[in-house]
Amino acid sequence: MKLLVTGGAGFIGSNLIRYLLERSERELGLEVSRVVTLDKLTYAGNRSNLRDFDDDPRHVFVVGDICDAELVGSLLREHQIDAVMHLAAESHVDRSINSPEDFIQTNVVGTYRLLETFRHYLAERKWKPTTAKSLKDGGEYLFLHVSTDEVYGSLAGGEVAFSETSSYSPNNPYSASKAGGDHLARAYHHTYGMPIVTTNCANNYGPYQFPEKLLPLMILKILRGEPLPVYGDGKQVRDWLYVEDHCRGLVMAMMAGQFGETYMIGGRCEMKNLDVVHAIIDTVREMAPERVSQTAAELITYVEDRPGHDRRYAINPERMERELGWQPRMDFLSGLRRTVQWYLANHDWVRDVEIGRYRGERLGMID
Ligand code: NAD
Repeated sequence: MKLLVTGGAGFIGSNLIRYLLERSERELGLEVSRVVTLDKLTYAGNRSNLRDFDDDPRHVFVVGDICDAELVGSLLREHQIDAVMHLAAESHVDRSINSPEDFIQTNVVGTYRLLETFRHYLAERKWKPTTAKSLKDGGEYLFLHVSTDEVYGSLAGGEVAFSETSSYSPNNPYSASKAGGDHLARAYHHTYGMPIVTTNCANNYGPYQFPEKLLPLMILKILRGEPLPVYGDGKQVRDWLYVEDHCRGLVMAMMAGQFGETYMIGGRCEMKNLDVVHAIIDTVREMAPERVSQTAAELITYVEDRPGHDRRYAINPERMERELGWQPRMDFLSGLRRTVQWYLANHDWVRDVEIGRYRGERLGMID
């Protein structure tokens, strides 16, 4: 297959490209002859995340904006793309609260431009809606729209986890803009019959995550002996999934997901933020004991809660498990060890990100 991956220089995108080029054929039988990465390289995009593939003739890296319909159209035509995997987004809730505009532009307008450009591309290729229900079932093209569990809003303690039939209830500009993109993807399938599959995933963690997000932020602060900012009472619950498990799920949803359908991807791993922070401290202490001299109580600092902070997210991934045969492989503590190991071993990557701080980027805390 020939793929266009948007946002491929970000956290999940770069892990996905690694999975596509190194493992998808062996594990899932998906042979990839071309991956075109389209990324604007915002503060969250890091070209070095994909340096390993600079000499791989199957990979092409293009710096550009998903809002640029002309560029997207020319990439689709030049590389005769079979499937778009759309991950490009503004993704940091705190930033969306301080400045929502970029979120509307990329997550709503950008998604619209991609869908519209893909629609014109299919028309040029004389594609017509057929009876095929998925790529596996004989479909020729696919648009995989990658989204988040945050579009469903907040759950109370005893409520059942989000599923594909949960109603949308976004509570911050990030989740509202992602919800807008999801609705457009749904509408383009229903209106034009386009082959579109949507996935909504839980919180990811793993290598290459920008250190404004909870796990890398805490790991790096522990290593520096800096206070660990915990929002409110720290009892917000998130459902955690190791990024490689998400990437395999995305490829499976692309290959066999039913057109027009949604799939929830989650690790059945609900944890309170405070428990996650304690687990990170314990793991860093276990793996680099000489670098952690303070106790958890000395490190943790409670800070004012984020406005509109959702209390609990939880995903029911039964459909992925039942229909697509997907299962997470990594338990939280093993994934956490791998993640800590990666940040300990990749000083240069961390240093490059720190240079971004000199451009005035403020690192905050997020889930
Ligand atoms: P990220 O912020 O690490 O990466 C986003 C990438 O998109 C960056 O490389 C950035 O440069 C690029 N980008 C931003 N605007 C662009 C534009 N206009 N044109 C082209 N490229 C642009 O995000 P991530 O954590 O890797 O998330 C990827 C996707 O997965 C997003 O759609 C996000 O909503 C979704 N998601 C993330 C999580 C999570 O826990 N991180 C969970 C569920 C879903």
